[in-house]
Amino acid sequence: MKNYYSILGVTPDSSDAEIKTAYRKLARKFHPDVNPYGTERFKDITEAYEVLSDAKKRMQYDTINGFFKSYRKEEKQHTSPKQAQNEYKKRSSSSAHHTEPKMTKEEFSKKINDIFEEFAKSKPQKEKLSPKRGDDLYEEISITLKESVNGTERVVNVKHSADCPNCTCRKFINGTLCHECNGTGEKTEHKKITVKIPKNVKNGAKLRIPNEGACGLNGGKNGDLYLKIKVEPNNRISFDGNNILYNVPITPFEAVLGGNISIPSFDSGLSLKIPPKTHSGQKFRLAGQGLKQNGKLGDMIVVVHIEIPCSLSDDEIRLYQKLKKLSSQNIRENLLNE
Ligand SMILES: [Zn+2]
Repeated sequence: MKNYYSILGVTPDSSDAEIKTAYRKLARKFHPDVNPYGTERFKDITEAYEVLSDAKKRMQYDTINGFFKSYRKEEKQHTSPKQAQNEYKKRSSSSAHHTEPKMTKEEFSKKINDIFEEFAKSKPQKEKLSPKRGDDLYEEISITLKESVNGTERVVNVKHSADCPNCTCRKFINGTLCHECNGTGEKTEHKKITVKIPKNVKNGAKLRIPNEGACGLNGGKNGDLYLKIKVEPNNRISFDGNNILYNVPITPFEAVLGGNISIPSFDSGLSLKIPPKTHSGQKFRLAGQGLKQNGKLGDMIVVVHIEIPCSLSDDEIRLYQKLKKLSSQNIRENLLNE
């Protein structure tokens, strides 16, 4: 037998109002939304209040468990049984119950059980949620042209987010900001992932990293992470199938004298021999120095352009002045005849 009076912290002679106040106080304290450890207590409190707040149920409970009797016994010294009976009648909403046939203890506990089952049914059941796959996430990564040819690695910061399991996106619990998510309704986790970017990746390519998207819900799978590759444009290099077209600057004296010039390339450096008196726009093919794709190796086509170095020393300027004086040919003389 559960002592509903002690559960609510009241006595058999407490009034309906006192019982109601005690119940409200305890329910606020032990409601599972407020107190995660309060579930059992809350059940007992509610069960006790269900009975003690109903005059008919309370009387039956008192009768079966002898509370009324002990109450009368206690009061005997200064209250007559008749007075106590009257006191009880006042508490009960109707005196008619006294004329009802008494239930056996078994009948009564069955009835009480039925009441609680009914009560439990009427309580909103926690919705059983079906598994939900997490959303896919999309990020953009910029890489250099060289990285796009050689492949590279990037550390990507991923924000994994999931609906807050504590408040299930409601943000508030009983009017209080959810402590789990601070009222955002979602839980986030920042994660660093090292992503390997393969060789010869094209601008706009999408890499799929499975399972690194938003978290799944209720046992659902995580989404995927998609990385969109942005290859930073390069003014000097373009591609034509497997061939690399490379605009390479040469100095005026390299153009005149010729010789070996070194060209930075994707994997290492390349050396190109240019003949004396090389013209701007002249093309040189470096066989097998292009991209290797689908088992085929392309070439590199170098287009040279005479460019003036940005910084020229006074000595260099004087030498150019000397060259100017020495130069006898007017290279624009026959332009209209060409
Ligand atoms: Zn929350």
